[in-house]
This record gives sequence, structure tokens and C-alpha cells, in this order.
Amino acid sequence: MIDFTLTENDQKLLGQVREEALVARKYARHYDENEHEFPPDRLPEADDFPNVYSHFKDRTADDTSMPVISMLVSAGQTWGDYSVRLQRGKGGLGNAALRASGTPEQQEKWGGLTLSMAITEPGCGSDPSKVQTTAVLDGDEWVLNGEKIFVTTGCRCEGVVLWATLDKSAGRAGIKSFLVEKDTPGFTVAHKEKKLGIRADDTAAFVFKDCRIPRENLLGGDESIPKESSGGFKGVLKTFNMTRPAVAAIGLGMARAALDFTRDQLREAGIEIEYGTRLQGQSAIVAKYLELEALTEAAELTILRAAWLSGESQPNNLEASVCKAKTGTVVRQVTQGCIDILGPLGVSREHLLEKWFRDVRITDIYEGTGEIQRMITARELLGYTRAELS
Ligand SMILES: Cc1cc2nc3c(=O)[nH]c(=O)nc-3n(C[C@H](O)[C@H](O)[C@H](O)COP(=O)(O)OP(=O)(O)OC[C@H]3O[C@@H](n4cnc5c(N)ncnc54)[C@H](O)[C@@H]3O)c2cc1C
Repeated sequence: MIDFTLTENDQKLLGQVREEALVARKYARHYDENEHEFPPDRLPEADDFPNVYSHFKDRTADDTSMPVISMLVSAGQTWGDYSVRLQRGKGGLGNAALRASGTPEQQEKWGGLTLSMAITEPGCGSDPSKVQTTAVLDGDEWVLNGEKIFVTTGCRCEGVVLWATLDKSAGRAGIKSFLVEKDTPGFTVAHKEKKLGIRADDTAAFVFKDCRIPRENLLGGDESIPKESSGGFKGVLKTFNMTRPAVAAIGLGMARAALDFTRDQLREAGIEIEYGTRLQGQSAIVAKYLELEALTEAAELTILRAAWLSGESQPNNLEASVCKAKTGTVVRQVTQGCIDILGPLGVSREHLLEKWFRDVRITDIYEGTGEIQRMITARELLGYTRAELS
């Protein structure tokens, strides 16, 4: 039976995450307004707290509650800020890709590095089968050539899981992932991207020019190009099933922050949110707030369900897309609705609400846009193949 009950330890962990988030929030505006700066790995206040990541140390790989707790921790951290952390943990999207596609030896070798994941190119985003970056085998080395854009953790990562094609005419089947370490000659970070929101986040563009990596850096170690066009792509899909609920949780934390701020502002104005009263007895503002809160809770449940299934080692392809699509829409409705309720307070840079409004926009873009998630959902529910519905 599905069960999201938290242990006493998990509740303690989430309490600490909340305290840390409040500290991080103090720095949020500074790094939003100084996009060229990176938040430090440790804030000065970090010495006052035990390391939050130590809570995870004693949990074993067969602890099925881990994915659910990880979602709640992520949402708790972004309740403070999208990018600023009391202490930055290791890891990035590429680590999930390594876990999904790498052999046990590759995971052992590179699992300790912070890895980004580079699929998107100037001419390829929603449809990763259009990847133009090439990998050509030359003796015992792969030679990589191409360009990647909007790579999260691109500047700070120590390596990247790079998607490249062995044979453009093979479409999806020709695409493989490669581990490229940061100091490899021919691999350059071209620039840091400038953005509407999540400005402090490290998003970069990469160039690969005759970049040579050892043959064994092909993840999974399988150099064949499968005949079936879906075969070479399983790694991407497996990665997304792990990362889509995670990015939804990140958005959820910011929507909750917006709701909490709005509730506090209403309270200061003498308007209490009352639960359990009938619609007829509520003011329009309270009714609107409650609607936004209900949307947020619905989104949260879709995220926890997708994470719970992954913890139980059950397929979650449908649920990962549902939670990403639902949350991507909800966080926009919620932050915009909070601005509707608060008016000028909502757009003033004296407060963080306008920043959360900008920051949540990404939830519906990266890891597959809302349109793509809705298409995957339709395919799964209606039993269409990719060829029938794309
Ligand atoms: C801050 C940020 C961080 C990112 N981090 C990463 C990262 O770490 N690694 C990485 O590889 N990429 C990353 N991306 C890229 C992101 O995943 C892509 O931007 C996204 O997948 C969309 O691709 P695109 O920009 O090429 O848009 P396009 O694919 O050109 O889509 C444009 C529009 O068309 C719609 N559309 C496209 N195809 C269809 C269809 N078949 N049916 C209906 N509508 C469709 C899309 O939904 C979208 O609205 C990041 C992007 C941003 C902004």
C-alpha cells in the first residue's frame, strides 16, 4: 500500500532543511541581482549546523523510502532558494544519468564526481533524436565534435554525461552517452547563460572540438547500434524517470514559499485563512488562496507517487511525466495567483515573490517541456506508439 508516513528521523531532517532554507533565503536576492557571481559552496552560517547530507549516509540502497524523502528535501531546500544552499552537496543531473546508463565499474569510477548532463544543442531540445554532436571511434579513442547549450551545473561540474551520435542516419538508435572529464583537451565551457529566473544557477554552453576520450568512456560499454530504433535510447528514458519528479519537487518548494509568504502577508492585513468553512462564508481572497493551496497539494501528491514507485522499483514512466506536467503548470498558477492576491507587494523587489514567479518558469521547460510531458502521458494512457503520436 502506498504510504508517505515520515519517521521521526525524517521529520527531524526536514526540520533542519527548513532552518537552513531560511538562512539561504537571506542571500537569495544578492545572487539573483549579481548573475555573474556563484553562491559559495558553504555559507558563513554553515558551521552552526550539522551537515544535512550526513542524514543520508546510514541509508542503504534497499531503503525504498529514499526517493520520497529526497523529493521532500529538494522541495524544502528550494523553499529557501533555488540555488543558494547552506552547504552545497555533490552531484548533478549527470550523476542520475550515470546511475541509469553506466556499468557498475563506471559508476564506481565516476560516481563521486559532480556530473552535468548535456543533451540540448542549438538545433535539438525536445526531440533528443536530433542530436548532431558526433562521436567517431579512432583506435582506442572516441573523437567528439559538437556544441551543447543550457547545461545545468555546466561551470562547476567535474565532468559531463554527453549525448552524441555514432551514426546520424540511425536516428535515436545511433545515440549514446559518454563520460567526458572537465580538463579533457578539446572540451571548453563557452559561456554562462543569462536567464529570466534561477539566475544564480550555473547554466553553461559547451563546445567539443576534436575532443578525444578513452574508448571505455562510452557509458554502458555497448558500441553496437541497435536495429530497433528505440533500443539505444533506454538510458535517456530511465534518466528522465528519475529526474522529472526531482525537478517537479524543486518547483514545488518555490510555489510553497510563495503561498506561505502570501498567507503571512494576509495575516498581517488581518485576513486569516480559515479551513473547514463553506465557500459561501469565505472572502474571495481566502477562496482563491485555498484553491492555490489545493492545486499545490495535488501536484505534491503526483510527485510523491512517482518517487514512491521508483523506490518500489516499479515502472513510473507515466507518473514521472504526469507529475512534471502537473507541477509545471501548478507552480506558474500559484506564483501568479499569489501576485494577483497581493498586487504591488507581489511584484516589488523588496520581497522574493516576484523572484519565485520568475524562478518557477523553468519547471515547465527543462527535462522536457509541458507539451512533451502531456504527449508522453497521452501515449501511455491511450496506448499510442511514438510513431503514432509525436
Ligand atoms: C535553465 C535551463 C537549464 C537547462 N538544463 C539542461 C541540462 O542540464 N541539460 C540539457 O541537455 N538541457 C538542458 N536544458 C534545455 C532544455 O531541456 C530544453 O530547452 C528543452 O528540452 C526544450 O528544448 P528546446 O529549447 O530546443 O525547445 P524546442 O524543442 O525547440 O521547443 C520549442 C517549443 O515547441 C514545443 N514543442 C516541441 N516539440 C513539440 C511537439 N512534438 N509537440 C508539441 N509541442 C512541441 C515545446 O514544448 C516548446 O514550447 C535547460 C534549459 C534551461 C532553460
